[in-house]
Amino acid sequence: MARVYNFSAGPAVLPEEVLKEAADEMLDYRGTGMSVMEMSHRSKAFDTIIKEAEQDLRELMNIPDNYKVLFLQGGASQQFAAIPMNLMKNKVADYIITGQWSKKAFQEAKKYGNVKAVASSEDKTYSYIPDCSDLDIDDDADYVYICENNTIYGTKFKELPNTKGKTLVADVSSCFLSEPVDVTKYGVIYGGVQKNIGPAGVVIVIIREDLITDTPLEGTPTMLTYKTQADADSLYNTPPCYGIYICGKVFKWIKKMGGLEAMKAHNEKKAKILYDFLDQSELFKGTVVEKDRSLMNVPFVTGDADLDAKFVAEAKAAGFENLKGHRTVGGMRASIYNAMPIEGVEKLVEFMKDFEAKNK
Ligand SMILES: *Cc1c(COP(=O)(O)O)cnc(C)c1O
Repeated sequence: MARVYNFSAGPAVLPEEVLKEAADEMLDYRGTGMSVMEMSHRSKAFDTIIKEAEQDLRELMNIPDNYKVLFLQGGASQQFAAIPMNLMKNKVADYIITGQWSKKAFQEAKKYGNVKAVASSEDKTYSYIPDCSDLDIDDDADYVYICENNTIYGTKFKELPNTKGKTLVADVSSCFLSEPVDVTKYGVIYGGVQKNIGPAGVVIVIIREDLITDTPLEGTPTMLTYKTQADADSLYNTPPCYGIYICGKVFKWIKKMGGLEAMKAHNEKKAKILYDFLDQSELFKGTVVEKDRSLMNVPFVTGDADLDAKFVAEAKAAGFENLKGHRTVGGMRASIYNAMPIEGVEKLVEFMKDFEAKNK
């Protein structure tokens, strides 16, 4: 068995320890005589799994009691509709467009109300985060929306926007649990888990209780109504049981590693190795404005599409997988989520140095 260094943007690398533990428990989960995949979501064993997962996430993120934690399905993209359907009272919302994911969310929200883009970095291929200190926020805005870490373009909000008192909603799919977060600054934090936490199919929604309404927009499906899911503790219907089980294991792994402060230190160390190399390289160049660089997704180019392709192919042959940039931007991207070990980044940089020496 040989594991590769997997730099995929998502689904992405998971801690080896977690995978081994899940493998050990595959046929007989703790004396139940069955796999977690095979058990009732109403069973005692699963009840413990989902409750512990929630409790561990609450501890890790220091989630206040007046926030609900929901384990839902449909990925992050399903929330692009659920958010306006549940949060729009005035049918007004302001979006900050810093990449494809916020743009998709913006376009979806337009179906439901009067939605405005109050800032955008599209003019420079989303290579920076716009100044959000004094935006033209609508007096009636039900919320202000951001994508906090831009998976495709490799930018991250280092400072949250000034929402002028309006509710902040953030898609944190690709920076979930990568560093400490002050939950009280948000109305809703949500993310698909397949970037930094677990298997695709689970989306976690952390929502302040006063935003959970009995009266979402007319026509909102029962399943997309936060109140349905909150009242049923995420068990209105069969939840993505196995995915939640793996998320729970990853939460325990992060706790064991020292929590989110330790994750941040680990992620900063890894990102620095790669950015420091990119900053002095004569062949490779990072594509993002320095102050807005993501710790999780690092896009880079050589400036020559053929050479990029050669690099990706040779890297793959050497055991560095999924370094090709997103299909819409080209070049390369190394996603270095929580579970990517430091030596994965060190070895990648060694490989890049060697490639540079041979291709200068
Ligand atoms: C991957 C990703 C999504 C889409 O997630 P799905 O679960 O595939 O819907 C949305 N937002 C961000 C920031 C992402 O990285």
